[in-house]
Amino acid sequence: MGTDTHERIIIIGSGPAAHTAAVYAARAELSPLLFEGFMAGGVAAGGQLTTTTEVENYPGFPEGIQGPELMDRMRAQSLHHGTRIKTETVAKVELGSRPFRIHAPSGTYTTDALVISTGATAKRMHLPGEERLWQKGISACAVCDGALPIFRNAPLVVIGGGDSACEEASYLTKFGSSVTMLVRRDELRASKAMQKRVLNNEKIRVLWNTEATEVSGEDKLQYVHVKNNHSGEEQKIEAAGLFYAIGHTPNTAFLEGQLETDETGYLLTMPDSTATALPGVFAAGDVKDKVWRQAVTAAGMGCMAALEAERFLAEQE
Ligand code: FAD
Ligand code: NDP
Repeated sequence: MGTDTHERIIIIGSGPAAHTAAVYAARAELSPLLFEGFMAGGVAAGGQLTTTTEVENYPGFPEGIQGPELMDRMRAQSLHHGTRIKTETVAKVELGSRPFRIHAPSGTYTTDALVISTGATAKRMHLPGEERLWQKGISACAVCDGALPIFRNAPLVVIGGGDSACEEASYLTKFGSSVTMLVRRDELRASKAMQKRVLNNEKIRVLWNTEATEVSGEDKLQYVHVKNNHSGEEQKIEAAGLFYAIGHTPNTAFLEGQLETDETGYLLTMPDSTATALPGVFAAGDVKDKVWRQAVTAAGMGCMAALEAERFLAEQE
């Protein structure tokens, strides 16, 4: 039972940010305790990469590596250097005074430093047919999956009208024969510069006031069924790929507003730093990053968080 067990550093999360922080903290002899979650937010321990297949852009794996295997290896590296891992989801934290209190199913833990790397969850629409065809043509990350062979020279669809959707649609024109953007209103939410990039690209067509209603295909995606929400007109668009770009939800609910976030819930940190406004609390990875959202950038922030936490602890002693 972990009631009031005291730690120098606790890391919450299990993606590339958490495990990189753990490797650095363990090698700095801080003996980190890491809570990896148990289906936290519906995602297995290991984070978002456990929901994908091939990862081709993480350095060190020239032939690519399966997402779950990459995360197994990161976890093994954390353990190898002495991280203690608990397969539990942190339910609540108390950050009002130091040491911080962390509430998990096995008890309450106190810690001098805390790294929050609980990631974000890509929003999905859960259309009829989606569960069966997920990762068989349907993805929530064009930058991650767009270059896969199944999308080459094939018609692709992007849903969303924000900066991500515009960026992803532009990116996908490198691979697909055409890209159709489904925008539910008659305007894009994206910045003017992004809008221009999309609207001037001959390979992108925008269907305004259009919503997806269903996806279909035998063993892989073949059609996206759509409806114009003004005219009611329905059509089936041929598509080998469907990419959701309708936003992410950062996993910050368990913090109950104790740390400053932006208006969409992403944790805020100091410039060029993972330090939050609360001394001793650091945030790394997708939980604080709504722009880059890559495994390698999350890992980089995990490294920064551990180094900054180490410096913080040294200053306290
Ligand atoms: P995450 O990977 O988001 O993991 C955080 C995890 O922490 C959560 O999933 C959960 O398991 C755990 N957790 C959450 N809350 C709690 C809690 N309260 N207590 C304990 N544990 C908790 N990036 C690439 O670079 N290349 C790719 O090819 C690629 N492909 C992708 C494919 C898909 C389908 C998706 C969705 C993303 C992909 N990404 C890819 C993006 C990449 O997965 C993320 O940028 C990266 O995983 C972010 O890492 P993170 O460490 O911030 O946290
Ligand atoms: P946003 O929340 O900005 O946009 C989400 C888009 O998806 C909106 O157009 C929204 O429509 C649409 N949408 C949401 N739910 C649905 C649904 N169920 N069906 C159809 N459409 C839906 O998310 P982004 O990921 O695009 O951006 C997040 C933040 O990151 C923003 O602040 C953005 O500026 C920033 N960002 C910046 C980048 C850059 O500068 N290069 C790149 C990527 C992101 P509606 O408009 O009708 O609400």
